[in-house]
Amino acid sequence: MSLLPQELKAQFQDMGLPGYRAGQVFRWLGRGVRSFEQMSDLPKPLREQLAAAYDLPALTLLRRQVSRQDGTEKYLWALPDGESVETVFMRYKHGNTVCISSQVGCRMGCAFCASTIGGKVRDLAPSEMLGEVIFSGLAAGAPVGGIVLMGIGEPLDNYDNVMRFLRLVNDPAGANIGMRHISLSTCGLVEQIDKLAAEHLQLTLSVSLHAPDDETRSKLMPVNARYGVDELYAACERYFAATGRRVSFEYAMVRDVNDTPRHAQMLVRRLRGTGSHVNLIRLNYVSERGLLPSPEQTVRDFVKRLEDGGVTVTVRRRLGSDIDAACGQLRRGEMRRA
Ligand code: SAH
Repeated sequence: MSLLPQELKAQFQDMGLPGYRAGQVFRWLGRGVRSFEQMSDLPKPLREQLAAAYDLPALTLLRRQVSRQDGTEKYLWALPDGESVETVFMRYKHGNTVCISSQVGCRMGCAFCASTIGGKVRDLAPSEMLGEVIFSGLAAGAPVGGIVLMGIGEPLDNYDNVMRFLRLVNDPAGANIGMRHISLSTCGLVEQIDKLAAEHLQLTLSVSLHAPDDETRSKLMPVNARYGVDELYAACERYFAATGRRVSFEYAMVRDVNDTPRHAQMLVRRLRGTGSHVNLIRLNYVSERGLLPSPEQTVRDFVKRLEDGGVTVTVRRRLGSDIDAACGQLRRGEMRRA
């Protein structure tokens, strides 16, 4: 069920039920109940009536892995139709963050990413994404403070469901997670970036850039054939103008592909003076992909060149890499591989 409290209330009223029951049900859903039966403050006949009228497709935990390095947890969930996706729970000093998937598989085809192997199977429903947040908190036994839409799938390729999920998870009667604690990452779908800009949300938009020029980016990301680097930068500028929030750029460093001094220079030329932030990710190894991470020293040199050029840069921590929970390592169908 992906209904917002007001919508649930309207449906309840159509069924002749008092509106306040909708609030009760919504709160129960936010606490991760798996059936109407568990909603103990509703009269039994009402629980039965609702169970007949609505599906509650809760996620079922198939496997939980805990990183020995840093306590990051990864969950494999079964969805009601037998498909599966992964979610990662990360502990930071400033709070816990879940990294959720937005699709079963992905059709973007990036050359370095495990999530796109096998293509896209289907979009996740808003309630399934909400389920990832709620059930991850329950599995970890700890509160969820923030969300990153950086798991399997391209969130802007599932636009309407992702927007509805954001409203659900943001609702004060439910998980109540503020937009400023949510980041959304996209491979760079320009039209959808413009659409998102018009929503004026206070979330953080991250763009997977991975190369400063069309030649290199096209080798890594098929989406670049649709929207080239110039077009993508222009969309990011429009996004900033519309929302007042700067886009941050993700850049996975791939040995001998996008990590040379020439690439650093091109990136500096593009970003200097824009206040944009670059988040470098040392490529995480994906066995099928044949690409290698840049050596540590190359990453350090690249960072220095960006900093000297006046571009702010951070290197992303590789949380959970021992359980294949790091960026680009999530996949559907783990069950089959195991
Ligand atoms: N589809 C969205 C959401 C994925 S977010 C997007 O493309 O942004 C996951 C981030 O990890 C993206 O920046 C993605 O490009 C990056 N990534 C994918 N595979 C990776 C790998 N093997 N190593 C490091 N980062 C990777």
